[in-house]
Amino acid sequence: MTVIAIDGPSGSGKSTVAKALATQLGWAYLDTGAMYRAAAVWVRRAGALDSPERMPELVRDMPLRISLDPGDQRVFLGDDPVTDVIRSSEVSALVSKVSTVIPVRQVLVARQRELVAERREAGIVVEGRDITTVVAPDAEVRVLIAASPEVRLRRRALDQLGRGDADALAATADEVLRRDRDDATVAEFMAAPPGVTLVDSSDLTVDETVAAVAALLPERA
Ligand code: C5P
Repeated sequence: MTVIAIDGPSGSGKSTVAKALATQLGWAYLDTGAMYRAAAVWVRRAGALDSPERMPELVRDMPLRISLDPGDQRVFLGDDPVTDVIRSSEVSALVSKVSTVIPVRQVLVARQRELVAERREAGIVVEGRDITTVVAPDAEVRVLIAASPEVRLRRRALDQLGRGDADALAATADEVLRRDRDDATVAEFMAAPPGVTLVDSSDLTVDETVAAVAALLPERA
């Protein structure tokens, strides 16, 4: 029975680390951010981005299919592949509108708990903003991956635009800093609560960060 729960702000490197760790261990991987991103696309399609009262029912009926294979991260709404569109900057800019609606969170948290319960025996790495505190507070390993705002901006700019110059940093500032501010109104992921280990990845490579999290795994017989 093992769950590794990883939280962190955008650009902290948590997705890269969580995926690498799941691959290394041969475990499942759940990207809860992808679920909120898919919900934002679904709500946008229904024209309900400015109608929070319509969102919980829409999200409850969302035909989401998400792969738990760290090597094959595909997301579908019904038969419609949305793997790429959920990563677009338009969706990054609007996802908090949906994820900060508390009843929407309740619907998605319930689904996330089901997915975790199904994979728990075989092992699963779950990442997001409220995994260590709300979705899987009983996880065997609970980690907050942090990084300085400068490092997070630079990582996101390199990721999205392939450059880390001043213009690129300015272009990604909304996506990183404003989104974190909005997201932090409904989940605590900027400071590690009791029982959650802080791993600061600012000066670590991906491999070093993966190793730091793997070192927290209890010895298994
Ligand atoms: O991790 P990622 O940047 O893909 O997450 C996208 C968005 O989903 C976040 O900005 C946040 O609004 C929301 N989210 C959340 N709770 C989670 C995971 C993501 O609110 N557990």
